[in-house]
Amino acid sequence: MLFEHLQYYGVSRKIIEAMNKIDRKLFVPSELQESAYLDIPLPIGYGQTISAPHMVGMMCEYLELKDGDRVLEIGTGSGYNAAVMSLLVGESGWIYTIERIPELVQEAQKRINLLGINNITIIVGDGKEGLEEYAPFDKITVTCYAKHIPKKLIEQLKDNGIMVIPVGNEYVQILKLIRKSGEKIIEEDLTHVRFVPMQ
Ligand code: SAH
Repeated sequence: MLFEHLQYYGVSRKIIEAMNKIDRKLFVPSELQESAYLDIPLPIGYGQTISAPHMVGMMCEYLELKDGDRVLEIGTGSGYNAAVMSLLVGESGWIYTIERIPELVQEAQKRINLLGINNITIIVGDGKEGLEEYAPFDKITVTCYAKHIPKKLIEQLKDNGIMVIPVGNEYVQILKLIRKSGEKIIEEDLTHVRFVPMQ
């Protein structure tokens, strides 16, 4: 029932159900528990934020996640988006997620273990480099904004793969949808967004 309103953002039933299953309360600091189900970003420490639920829903929708997808996420943060995606790719799918702040990785890993989710790998590292050893990916989702789309991420996307990435600066950011089709890269501007920067 929590995130029913996401249908008005074009988010499909399957995604809303996955988001209702993963308790967002677990992913926010204890002093913000009362706000856990509000559709707003919340601070998670280290100057970072957990995205607003409508943004998580919309990005999952744009990615066209399906059973068996191998997904790379840049910016694990709280681990909430990864947990939601883990349900959407099913037992045959896998989520690889990279985060540069080791403390956030530790906290996210604890939550994932607590929920008994076993198709997520969380890695400390620089997302701009992607994750060569597990590439290519069906889908790539970037939850911090980049000034330019990192070349390595495009290289690590499968043919016919989809990437969503906020691109811009601290004032203006556009969520872009990238589709790889052979040698061709098709780029589409989706909507204005507000994310923390990719470091
Ligand atoms: N998806 C997260 C929201 C993450 S906020 C959630 O569901 O909670 C964006 C995250 O990107 C921050 O935690 C930040 O530390 C991380 N980040 C920024 N630049 C990065 C980089 N170059 N490599 C990996 N992670 C990065």
